[in-house]
Amino acid sequence: MSTKGKSRIPPHTHCRVCGRSIPLNKEHCSNECREKELDIQKRNKRMNRIFMVSLVIVIVLMVSTFLIR
Ligand SMILES: [Zn+2]
Repeated sequence: MSTKGKSRIPPHTHCRVCGRSIPLNKEHCSNECREKELDIQKRNKRMNRIFMVSLVIVIVLMVSTFLIR
């Protein structure tokens, strides 16, 4: 067992959920983290939709008060 090049870190990336180092061709360290990120993305998408809907409601309200005036 040789330890040559122990200061050289092989090319790697980090899990986007827990930050563990993983091979470059992977995005997550485990299925658990992959599912966790999908869950977060799904929640974000829902939040974005709620935000867009409330934004439209506010715009419609503003336009309608402007038109009524
Ligand atoms: Zn992870």
